[in-house]
Amino acid sequence: MSDLYQLRMEVARLHSHLTRWGLITWTSGNVSARVPGEDLLVIKPSGVSYDDLTAEAMVVCDLDGALVEGDYSPSSDTEAHAYVYRHMPEVGGVVHTHSPYATAWAIHGEPIPCVMTAMADEFGGEIPVGPFALIGDAEIGRGIVDTLDGHRSPAVLMRSHGVFTIGRGPRDAIKAAVMCEDVARTVHLARALGTPIPLTGKEIDALYDRYQNVYGQR
Ligand SMILES: [Zn+2]
Repeated sequence: MSDLYQLRMEVARLHSHLTRWGLITWTSGNVSARVPGEDLLVIKPSGVSYDDLTAEAMVVCDLDGALVEGDYSPSSDTEAHAYVYRHMPEVGGVVHTHSPYATAWAIHGEPIPCVMTAMADEFGGEIPVGPFALIGDAEIGRGIVDTLDGHRSPAVLMRSHGVFTIGRGPRDAIKAAVMCEDVARTVHLARALGTPIPLTGKEIDALYDRYQNVYGQR
């Protein structure tokens, strides 16, 4: 089995996390992965049901978003994913969803403030808001890169649209999308109870450092 086929299989399978964690409705979310060592990406085809996502159904595009291999046309978000890979060489996976709580913050145009330890761990600060951009050209990609550049957060809330997350690989980007929705919901609930108590910059730094460098299996 070729490495590219294995990656197509992995990207197809990873889409099941979007449904499992309630991040998508109908066909609205997508996962992509950079093909290691090549100027290519693997992404979900446009408008195909999550039940029908197989390795064969995945499409391969170049980093300008043009179709290279596959029977379907690529996701309409391919241009945005490709822009991220072109401008952020450390990124190996990108996820896009309209998960409801995070998108509610995006519609409000408000960053999610860093008020809980799990958020400091994963995001190292607030989850920022990116600009409003129409779908279909480089504008969304530029908004994602400009907002995340120099930011610890692997997630950005694109105004009036939804969430884009990045990671070293597609699995990391999915984790960021799952955690983004989780903190969006919890901070929303906290605000319904009153004013959340902020974490200090020092507390956030300590939590982020421990989680990124010490936590888990090494
Ligand atoms: Zn979208």
